[in-house]
Amino acid sequence: MDRLVNEEYLRLLYEVPDNNVEIDNIIDILSKYVPDILIKRGIGVLKMMATEPSNDKSNRQNNNEFVLLETQGEQYSYKKELTFNMANDGVTTVCALADKAWTEEMDETLFVIAKTVFVLYGRTRAMKELTILTFTDAKTGVLNETGLYRYVGKKLAMGENASYCLSFINLKNMKLINDSYGLPCGDMILRKFAKNLEQLLGEDGCVARLGGDNFVAFTDKKRQEELLSFINNQTIDIMSPKGDTIGVNVNARVGYYYLKEKSSIGEAMANSSMAFAKTRQNSSPDVIMYEEYMKMQVLEQKLLEQSIPDAVVNEEFVVFYQPKVSIEDADNFTLCGAEALMRWKKGDEIIPPGKFIPILEKNGMITIIDFYVLEHVCQDIKEWERQGIKPVRISLNLSRRHLRNEQFAQKVEAIIRKYDVNPDYLEVEITETYDIEDLEAIKRFEMDMHRLGLCISIDDFGSGFSSIKMVKDTSADIVKLDKSLIDGIGAGDAADELIVGHIISMIKELNKDVIAEGVEYKEQADYLRANGCMNIQGFLYARPMPKEEFELKLKKM
Ligand code: C2E
Ligand code: CA
Ligand code: CA
Repeated sequence: MDRLVNEEYLRLLYEVPDNNVEIDNIIDILSKYVPDILIKRGIGVLKMMATEPSNDKSNRQNNNEFVLLETQGEQYSYKKELTFNMANDGVTTVCALADKAWTEEMDETLFVIAKTVFVLYGRTRAMKELTILTFTDAKTGVLNETGLYRYVGKKLAMGENASYCLSFINLKNMKLINDSYGLPCGDMILRKFAKNLEQLLGEDGCVARLGGDNFVAFTDKKRQEELLSFINNQTIDIMSPKGDTIGVNVNARVGYYYLKEKSSIGEAMANSSMAFAKTRQNSSPDVIMYEEYMKMQVLEQKLLEQSIPDAVVNEEFVVFYQPKVSIEDADNFTLCGAEALMRWKKGDEIIPPGKFIPILEKNGMITIIDFYVLEHVCQDIKEWERQGIKPVRISLNLSRRHLRNEQFAQKVEAIIRKYDVNPDYLEVEITETYDIEDLEAIKRFEMDMHRLGLCISIDDFGSGFSSIKMVKDTSADIVKLDKSLIDGIGAGDAADELIVGHIISMIKELNKDVIAEGVEYKEQADYLRANGCMNIQGFLYARPMPKEEFELKLKKM
């Protein structure tokens, strides 16, 4: 091979950048340099074909063959054809037509050109395969996160960002589906769901799986409404392990964000996930659009979260007490207990638990704070006794996180011992939901608490997944009716009231005590009393109050 050809060969090779995987690029380079090389060697016409392996979809012509180069000439009398097998079973055919008889030098030139094509094209194919691996989610065949960023990046680079919408999608019940039908069926749902969305959007957008059952759809905003209704109106057929076809109703939570002129993909992802996070909150709809206030809320939460460790050290968490009263006499309430409720005293501001408990629950600090509350309650009880004030039973809220902590009972015992508190003055409130996974843990927890002499109540009964069956199965002593049940009393719906009445009698028949919380009106108290619920807690009698104020109530008893 002569030096000149060799140099040209190298130049061709380096003209195609590694990260450019488009075949057009090779064609461009070839048509830029090859005709010159040919003419120097006296070759007038050259047609170069490449044949792609059949699994490659980017064929331009029939049978995956496409023309890499075609130079023009007048006469076609001398023909030469060379075929090269490429890596990964592709084939390059160099078919040269010349206007004069073939010389050795022309053969050599042809060989060099074919070899160049071979290397370039092989490299391109390898890059293509790598591209597929890099940008595609193996489980579903739609884009993965990297692919999503590339796709969206390209779209946004063209401007008109405000014409797009990005949705963060999470399939509901995937755990249930996996548990009931097995993982392969679960995977089938993921795949079909993803492909259905992809098909729906076609050229107007893309779908990506971020892992697990989380997806993102990026679409022209004109199609957003259609996308949303499509997502939640799908039945996907799967084959059960037994071979039957089962139609599974797919439901998803979606947070979405309409991009603005200057929105970046990072912003779109953050905003849609913020909206998505809202769908997880109690009694929220499944589909929520991002709104500006959400950003402020998240920021506020972040700031709060950062100041929690200091707050613990500076003892900014304080315990308030909300009295519980017995209403055996229609117009006289008798103080019979109290619930310890936490407040965060941040400077002059008092932050209610609704704002910081979810953060503590999430980062796990709630378990520390619960012990902190127990410790303060024990201290207060002891101090009242020292002052000659007779305490009442104080209930404490416990996070469900404690259920999994084997040392929980030991720690409680240690604190009670430390302050030498009579356990009759203590009660623990726990929200029991019917969760099979926690069943054993709940049983152990109840046994431990009873062994220590503490009373147990089921909090928020009637608010979520609690059931009468659960009341039968639990060894808890008291059931606290949730405010949502009490709200139905005196609100004009006789059926609501009837239900509360029946719940009360069933609880009592199961030999448990019952207390109503969130009682705000006298009619509610009257109805409860008439139906056998003699203990109430609520703004009607008293709001949660600082220890000093509660002490005055104790003194008056
Ligand atoms: P919860 O255990 O259901 O507590 C009852 C909540 O209802 C309290 O809200 C109380 O102030 C409120 N409430 C009581 N009566 C009425 C009423 O008549 N009307 C209305 N509108 N509300 C009433 P709070 O103090 O904001 O506490 C919210 C939740 O935070 C509690 O709900 C409890 O789940 C949690 N929490 C509070 N302190 C602690 C704690 O020390 N540890 C744990 N793990 N959770 C706590
Ligand atoms: Ca409670
Ligand atoms: Ca409650």
